[in-house]
Amino acid sequence: MLAPSTIAQLLQNARRQIAQALQLPDAEARIEAQALLRQAVGAVSRAWLIAHEHDIPSPAQAAVFQQLLQRRLAGEPVAYLLGEREFYGLDFSVTPAVLIPRPDTETLVDAALTRIPPTTPCRVLDMGAGSGAIAIAIARHRPQARVTGIDSSPTALEVARDNARKLGAGNAEFHLSHWFAALAGEQFDVIVSNPPYIAADDPHLAQGDLRFEPAAALASGADGLDDIRLIVRAAPAHLVGGGWLLLEHGYDQAEAVAKLLRKAGFGEVGSGADLAGVMRVTQGRLP
Ligand code: GLN
Repeated sequence: MLAPSTIAQLLQNARRQIAQALQLPDAEARIEAQALLRQAVGAVSRAWLIAHEHDIPSPAQAAVFQQLLQRRLAGEPVAYLLGEREFYGLDFSVTPAVLIPRPDTETLVDAALTRIPPTTPCRVLDMGAGSGAIAIAIARHRPQARVTGIDSSPTALEVARDNARKLGAGNAEFHLSHWFAALAGEQFDVIVSNPPYIAADDPHLAQGDLRFEPAAALASGADGLDDIRLIVRAAPAHLVGGGWLLLEHGYDQAEAVAKLLRKAGFGEVGSGADLAGVMRVTQGRLP
């Protein structure tokens, strides 16, 4: 039998396999290997792993690590394997029922926060809340705001409610609704959404993490704009005068979304870039 591996040896082997199987740069593969091993030996810190690199994990820990590694090598997203993803400085629980929060989406939260007053009450709606990342990040930064998140997936709502509880967002609540279906008569000051916006035949849907994420959270018709069209059309009836609608969208959709907003009567239409410099969020204000 082979001698049991040290932490350093396990990490080195895993890094090599991950880099090769998933075509990832070495540095990224190393971070993933560390994350999986930290999980397997009991959620220890990265510093702990480095300080204990000559330790030999227990056979049970090594077995858990091998299972996580094999699942990762088969393409499962790290966030689902860990059950967690950081977003806007908060640790969100994630399951395959929800889209994995992306750093790009922090742009949407930033854009919303500049339009939500810090010290006066405000009603905010997050459409297609998923894990609750957007709604809860806003709720935590605007304690006097009341944030409502809706989603058409009951399993996603469980994740969002669990996150709100865990992250102390008592001013965020989540309801079952397909877009505005369950919101008759309700009005908000700010509506935000990171809806599905990928074209149904986009080859990216068959690559990487996206293969494992809920299709209903990603794809939206032939040009990816079906849900955005629906939201833009229906939003004015659910916004107060002067209210804002802010939408995340694909890298090449800013112009199309701006046009839809203007057509629906929105003014002050503009777009903002994500960390990669891609126009990612477009917003408009009701007169
Ligand atoms: N930004 C995500 C991606 O391209 C898509 C999320 C969405 O459709 N809302 O991976």
